[in-house]
Amino acid sequence: MSQTCIIVGASHAAGQLISSLRQKGWPGRIMVIGEESYLPYQRPPLSKAFLAGEKSLQDIIIRPAPFYEKSEIEFMLDTRVEAIDRDNKLLKLSNGATQAYDKLALTVGARVRKVDLPGVELEGIFYLRDINDVERIKANIGVGKQAVIVGGGYIGLETAATLRKQGMAVTVIEMLERVMQRVTAPQVSEFFSRVHSEEGVKILCGVGVDGFEGNGSVESVACNDGNKYPADIVVIGVGIVPNVELAEAAGLDVDNGIVVDEYARTSDADIVAAGDCTRHHNVLYDRWLRLESVQNASDQAMVAAATLCGEEKPYNALPWFWSDQYDLRLQIAGLSQGYDEVIIRGDRENSRSFAAFYLKDGIIIAVDAVNRPSEFMMGKRLINNKTLIDKEKLADIQMPIKDVFLA
Ligand SMILES: Cc1cc2nc3c(=O)[nH]c(=O)nc-3n(C[C@H](O)[C@H](O)[C@H](O)COP(=O)(O)OP(=O)(O)OC[C@H]3O[C@@H](n4cnc5c(N)ncnc54)[C@H](O)[C@@H]3O)c2cc1C
Repeated sequence: MSQTCIIVGASHAAGQLISSLRQKGWPGRIMVIGEESYLPYQRPPLSKAFLAGEKSLQDIIIRPAPFYEKSEIEFMLDTRVEAIDRDNKLLKLSNGATQAYDKLALTVGARVRKVDLPGVELEGIFYLRDINDVERIKANIGVGKQAVIVGGGYIGLETAATLRKQGMAVTVIEMLERVMQRVTAPQVSEFFSRVHSEEGVKILCGVGVDGFEGNGSVESVACNDGNKYPADIVVIGVGIVPNVELAEAAGLDVDNGIVVDEYARTSDADIVAAGDCTRHHNVLYDRWLRLESVQNASDQAMVAAATLCGEEKPYNALPWFWSDQYDLRLQIAGLSQGYDEVIIRGDRENSRSFAAFYLKDGIIIAVDAVNRPSEFMMGKRLINNKTLIDKEKLADIQMPIKDVFLA
C-alpha cells in the first residue's frame, strides 16, 4: 500500500520538498495543505520587484499549476491545519474535516512580529510577509506621499528602497544605533546608510516609536526623540516569530523553532520539518540556529525529502542570503556572529561595490559582498574550507581574489 505524505504550509520549503520527493521516487500520495490562497511562491520579491509592480503572481510562483498536476500533487488551499493527532496520524483542519497521514512535513514558516503600540490599529499601517500584505501596501503607494518604515533591517531597507523608487518620501526609523546592526559590521551599516541618504531616504537610528497618530488613518508617527514624523503609510518590519504552536501542541520538541536533527527529523520519526520554522544544530558553526532564508528553506527541504524516502543525507549547507536595494546586490555567505576582525576589500566610502570579510582567529567565517559576486563565490569556498588567507592581499582590490590564499 503506498503511503500518504502531507505537507503543512504551501511554502517555499514545500515547493522544494514536492519536487525533491518526486525526483527521489516517492511513490505515494502527496498533499499540500496551506492557509494562504496561492500555490507556493517566492517571498523575496515581495519587498522588491513584486512591491514595485515589476513582477506578477505568475512570475513569483515557484512552479506553475501544470507542473503539480503532472506530478500528481494535491493542494488544499485556504485551509489551516488546526491540530495534529499523532496517536491516530490525523490532522484536524479549519474546515472541520480530518485528514490522515503516514508521513508529515511541517513547513509552516514564520509570521511577522507585531508591535503593541498606541494607534497601531489605524488604517494605513502595514506589515509585510505575504502577497495580501503587499497588495494592500501597493494600493496606497503614491508619488510624493510620505512613507515611514519602522525597522532598519533587510525588509525595512528593501521596502524603503522600493517605495523611494516609486517616488515616495521615505523615512526609516530604527531603534538600534545603526541599520542592520544584528547582522552586519558597522562599516557595512554605514555604507547602507550612506546609499539610502544619497537616494533621498531619511534614516533615523537610535530612535524608538512611541505610537501612531491620526483620525481613522495614520497621519504621523510619534517618536521618543520628541518628533512626530508625517506618514501617509507606515510599514512595520521588526522581525518574525516562527510558527511553532501546531508542533508544540502536538508534543514535538520546540525551542525557538521546531527542533530537528541533521536529517530534518522532528522528535517524531514520522514528522520532518524545514524552513523558517525549524531550529537545527549547524555543523560548520557548531551552534543551534534558526535561519530565515531561501537557502535554508530549499536545502533543508531537500534533506527532509531524502529522509522521507528512506535516505540519510545530513544537512551541512553553508548559510547564505541576499538583499537587493536600488542598484545594490548584497550577498552574504556564512554567519558573522563572533567575528574578531573585519577586512574591507574595495572602496566602501566612495563607490557602490566592496566586500567585508569577517574573520575569527584568522579564519574567514563570513562575507558581505556588495555588487561583488566573485568575492561572494570565493568567500563561500574560503569559509567552507577554513582556508588561511593573506590578509594584505585580501584587502588589496588590485589583487585578484583567487590569489589571496596562503601557499
Ligand atoms: C518580504 C520578504 C523578503 C525576503 N527576502 C529574502 C531575500 O532576499 N533572501 C532570502 O534568502 N530570504 C528572503 N526572505 C526570507 C524567505 O522568503 C523565507 O526564509 C522563506 O520564505 C521561508 O520559507 P518557509 O518555507 O520556511 O515558509 P514560508 O514561505 O514562510 O511559508 C509558510 C507557509 O505556511 C503557512 N502556514 C503556517 N501555518 C499553517 C497551518 N497551521 N496550516 C496551513 N498552513 C500554514 C503560512 O501561511 C505560509 O503560507 C524574505 C522574506 C520576506 C517576507
